[in-house]
Amino acid sequence: MRILISVDMEGIAGVTGRLEILPGQQDYDRFRHLMTEEANAAITGAFAGGATSVVVNDSHGQMRNLLYEALDPRAELISGHNKVLTMVEGCRGAHGALFIGYHARAGSQAAVLDHTISSVQVHNWFMNGRPVSEAEINAEILAYYGVPLLMVSGDDKIAAQVQERLPGVETVIVKYGIDHRAARSLPRAQVLDSIQRCAEKVVRGAQPLAAAPPQPVTFELEFTRSFYAEVACLMPVVTRIDARTVEVSGANIIEAWRWALSALRLASTGDN
Ligand SMILES: [Zn+2]
Repeated sequence: MRILISVDMEGIAGVTGRLEILPGQQDYDRFRHLMTEEANAAITGAFAGGATSVVVNDSHGQMRNLLYEALDPRAELISGHNKVLTMVEGCRGAHGALFIGYHARAGSQAAVLDHTISSVQVHNWFMNGRPVSEAEINAEILAYYGVPLLMVSGDDKIAAQVQERLPGVETVIVKYGIDHRAARSLPRAQVLDSIQRCAEKVVRGAQPLAAAPPQPVTFELEFTRSFYAEVACLMPVVTRIDARTVEVSGANIIEAWRWALSALRLASTGDN
């Protein structure tokens, strides 16, 4: 049984701000270790639950954060980018997926470092008409390939969003958001133990999922500035909705995702 573990950084216990998650900042190296420790707790749990192969996908920023030399030696590591499936690259053929260190969607209150895909360019990201978190977008990609999302860890706000939108997915709360840049983190040993136990439980109980029948998906990207929308509209597949908002559609989630990611990357060149 093959398990994918996607590891983001904003939802790691102890993380509260940019100093901890941006390469070159004063606390980044410390938190790379803590991120790797939470990944290791999930790996340990996954193998204990019956996994025979674990692939870890580094899902934060430039996707080169996890310490390869400190990672459980039984696991494979996907790092770097470009990766078309970004946070869930490596999911094809997996029997289940775990999301570690995830965070609430853009615009969430009292949620640590809430954003969706980009904190600089994206004000809101809608999927088929409603604002979504990265966990929801990635769960939809997983479903397309018939991979069940089993577990999400992060702060209490992403846990609540997962419980509301993705019923049946287990959640582990590692900290309670006080503000965008403040949190009350649970004791370290408790965090690692909870992640390990939950990973073991969900992997042991993982049920096969039939690949979802392809359905059309529309993404609306509400940018933070009108200029991003203007630049994104250089691509003929992008439709302008209002000053800051554009829309892209695909016959299935993968097609829609590729257009949306392309629109965002193109918009980002407006910063140069
Ligand atoms: Zn991140």
